[in-house]
This record gives sequence, structure tokens and C-alpha cells, in this order.
Amino acid sequence: MQKASPNRIEFLTENLDASHFSDQAHFRMFQDYLGKKYAGQKLDLILAFPSGDYRLADELPDVLFPGVPVVFVAVNEMVVPEAVSKHGITGIVQRFDLRGTLGLIMRLQPDTRRVMVIGGTSEADRATLGRIAETAQLLEGIKFEFWTNRPITELPKAVKSLPEGTVILLSTVQRDVTGQRFFTSQLAEMLAPSASVPVYVLSGWAIGNGALGGVVVDPEDLGTRTGQLALRVLGGIRPEAVPVEVATKGTPMFDWRALRRWGIKESRLPADSVVRYRPETLWEQHRDLILILLAVFLGQAVTIGGLLAQRKQRRRAEAEILNQRVELAHVTRVSTMGQLASALAHELNQPLGAILRNAEAAEILLQKEKPDLEEIRAILEDIRNDDQRAGSVIDRVRSFLKHRSLEIKSLDLGELLRETVVLVESDARARHVKISLQMPEQLPAVRGDRVQLQQVLLNLILNGMDAMADVAKPGRQLTVRVETAKEGNVKVSVSDCGTGIPLEKAKHIFEPFFTTKPNGMGMGLTISQTIIEAHGGKIWGENKDSRGAVFTFTLPANEQ
Ligand code: ADP
Repeated sequence: MQKASPNRIEFLTENLDASHFSDQAHFRMFQDYLGKKYAGQKLDLILAFPSGDYRLADELPDVLFPGVPVVFVAVNEMVVPEAVSKHGITGIVQRFDLRGTLGLIMRLQPDTRRVMVIGGTSEADRATLGRIAETAQLLEGIKFEFWTNRPITELPKAVKSLPEGTVILLSTVQRDVTGQRFFTSQLAEMLAPSASVPVYVLSGWAIGNGALGGVVVDPEDLGTRTGQLALRVLGGIRPEAVPVEVATKGTPMFDWRALRRWGIKESRLPADSVVRYRPETLWEQHRDLILILLAVFLGQAVTIGGLLAQRKQRRRAEAEILNQRVELAHVTRVSTMGQLASALAHELNQPLGAILRNAEAAEILLQKEKPDLEEIRAILEDIRNDDQRAGSVIDRVRSFLKHRSLEIKSLDLGELLRETVVLVESDARARHVKISLQMPEQLPAVRGDRVQLQQVLLNLILNGMDAMADVAKPGRQLTVRVETAKEGNVKVSVSDCGTGIPLEKAKHIFEPFFTTKPNGMGMGLTISQTIIEAHGGKIWGENKDSRGAVFTFTLPANEQ
């Protein structure tokens, strides 16, 4: 009413409690009390809720508040007196939906043969029972038993062992045969939990204490309808212009817990049923929280998915880069070897020539009558040695050029350096370059790929020799120094006495395809840097104080 009204409504409440104090004396006392209390008050509307009879709606306001309009609402089966339709009164009489409830019993429990009706002895109680009996006649083959003259206190025991095919219909009980007063909801609580059969009720007030339900008077619905009617009257409609509404239609209403107890599926209930006391699902209780969490999880999943995809892509790209690096290193090795080819051919010519000369000498010795076998054996020994020398050069070249993947092993850098020098020795001789090696006796082992590190060394040595092309022959000195640096690192430097690195070019020399040589490729230092960094080391070049440049790289020692 307050929500629908533009004005503030003041509600004053008084309670006769006629279902328990229905005698004339109490009524008079109540009337006197109200008369005195409200003398001189200006009321706009009387809302009456008669339970026993209709005196609250007609007699009492007529005496105390003449001229004030009355709206009443009554829930019972009693005959509506003529008086309430008179001037200044209107209202709603809500009947119990007995047809509805009995129909519901047959729908949910078609095997029912017996209905135990529990009712009270007040005038209103008897009116209800009368109507139940009347409606019962419409159902054939079902026995109705009326437990009206047993004291209510005896009933809890009696309902415990009712046979199958029986249901209890709880009528209204304002007073029992012994004169004790009850509320129907109280009675439902006393009987339903221990009853061996379901308990049906007639009003929504009685649901919630164990009763199964029924097609009931819905208190909320009734309250709303009454409020609307009251507002119309407050708004100026004359009560007598609105006929008293007598309504029978109830609302199918159930206790969810009782439905479970009796194994009645919700799908069997009438379509417009109201099911109360259903526990809230987690979703209903924490809808917002669950939605937020879902959104967070979803966001997280999307991010993780994205990151995983990104990682996969990166790994693929890294693998591809590594592949290309190995490929490029191979190509530059082939090109480096190209530079050495003529010097190496010369290198091979030496043992081959010696072999030829020795073979010729042996032939001559064999022509003698008594060949000196000792001497021939010595010659053959020389031939074998020369052959091994040539073979080992070819082996080194081949292993340097072999297309292969990375092989990380523990290496002795000193030995690797010596092997590298063998490859460039003949070239150095041809260019009149003197190569000297400086290294301590004990060197920590390093971890790395033999061929790749050899490639770096070869690169730096050849670059150094190139830089000295214009230097007078006696000054062409190249020094390779290996030493242990701080933190156990191994440091290798290749120093020449050449042109040095022109200052303006210094920052470009490690860039791909940067070269100052007519036949240069400009990839040597780029590849060397990639290789050294992949080994966890560093490489740099600088000019010496004296003539020439020095290129240095470090490598972490094995245990690191
Ligand atoms: P390339 O040898 O094919 O030119 P590099 O990448 O090995 O390719 O070298 C790049 C450039 O760095 C060379 O062209 C040269 O200008 C310079 N450089 C390399 N080493 C030296 C050095 N020892 N002294 C002077 N300049 C050098």
C-alpha cells in the first residue's frame, strides 16, 4: 500500500484474537478499549480481519467509527452475513480451495483410498469441515474419516502408523474437543514430521513445518489483493460500489523438503506450483562471485593460451635461427677453406713429392743384385709417414668442411689451436707470416663445439694475416695467446702488426656483410660473434698501442 501511494500511510494495529477469545465479554472489552483509545482520532480507513464471525467488520466500526469506510478480508467457509454488504463496507472472503486440494491428492497419490480429516470444533472449524464433507461426495471410492472428536494431543501417536493408501488432510483447528486452542501451523508441526503418510493443508501458513502442501490460500497473494482494494477505497471509491469478492481459487504450494521425503518429483506438480524451502543452489547464493571468478578464470585461460602459443612460436623461431646459423657457419667455412685451398695444395704436394722420390729410390735399390733390405724398410717407413701426414691434412680439411650439427664437448683449447695452425701453416708460409703460439702449460678445459671454435680461430688468424699484406715481410708477425682470465674464464687473443681497424669503421666490423676487402664476404666476424656468444663468451676487437689490431674472445671454463 505504501509503495503504491503518494502519501505516507500511518498504520495502527489492534488485535482481538477472536479465534481464541471469541466470547461476547472479550468483544465488549475490546470495543470499549478501542473506543477510549481512538476517541477524537481521525481515521481514513478501517481494515478488518474477522476470523470467527464478521462482527469486527460490521458491528464494531459501525459503533466506534461511523462514517469511516471499512475493508475486510476473511479466510473461512462461513456464510457471509447480509450486513457486510451494507453501506460503507466491502472486502474479500477467501474460501479454501477444497476441490483443488482433493484433486491434487488424486493427482500426486492416485492410489489414495482413505483421507483422514483432522479439524477443530470452533464455529469456523465446523464450517470448514462441513465444506470438506460436501466436496468429498464428489470423489467416489474414497473414504473420508473425520477425526474431530479426539483430543489433539492423542493424534501424534495415532498418525504414526497409518497404512499406505491413506493421506491426512489438515482442516482448520482453532479449538479442539477439549477446548484447547491451536494454530493450524502448530498442528502441522505436531503431526506431519512423524506421520507415516503425507499431510495436506489448506492454507499457506501451515506449510513449512513438515506438511507436504496443497492448493492453498496464499497469504501473500491475499495480502496484495486486499491492499489494492484498500487503496481504491482510500482513493475515493465508495465501498458499497465494490461488491464483496468471494474467491475460491487457491495456489498449489509445496514444501520442497516434504516432496523429497515422499519421493514426489517436481515434474508431477501442477504447472503454476510454488515450491518453498528449496535450498539455494551455490549459483543462487553466490551468483555475482561465481560470475566474477568465471570471468577471471576465462581471462586467465585466454592469457595462458596466448602465452603458450607465443612460446611455441618463439621456440620454433629459435630452432629455425639455430638451424640457419649452423648453415651459415658451414657456408663461411667453405669460403674460408677456399682461401686456403692453394696453400693446402702446396702443403700436400710436399709429402706426395717425397713419397714419389722415395718410391723411385726404392726401385733403384731393388734393381741391385743384393738389395739392402734394411734401407728399403727405412724408405717404406718414410713413405708411410709422408702418407699419414698428407692423410691427416685431408682429414682435418674434411672434418672442418663436413656439414654437421652442433656437438658440445669438453675441449682442450691448446690442442685445438695447434690443429688449427696446421691448417694455416702453409698459407702463412706463402705470405711470409710468422705465427707464434703462447699458452700456459695448464689450461682449464672448455665446453664447446670443436669445429665452430676452430672456425673462429681460423677466421681471426686469416683476418690478421690479411691485415699485414702491406707490411714489410720481416714484420709480419701474428701472435695467438691463450690464458686463464678472471673467474676461471679462458681468454684467447689474436694479435697482428697490420693496418689496424680504421676508427670510423670500428663499430661496423661485426655487422653482417661488412668488409673492406675486394674479395671479402663480411661474414667472418659476424659468425665468430654468434659462435662465441652461443658458447657463453664475448668477443671484441681493438687497435694495439703499437701497430696492428688484437681480437680477443673469452669462453667460460668447463665447470661453469
Ligand atoms: P671479411 O674478412 O670477409 O672482410 P670479417 O667479418 O672477418 O669479414 O671482417 C670484417 C672487416 O673487419 C674486415 O673487412 C676488416 O675491415 C675488418 N677487420 C677484421 N679483422 C681485422 C684486423 N685484424 N685488422 C684490421 N681490420 C680487421
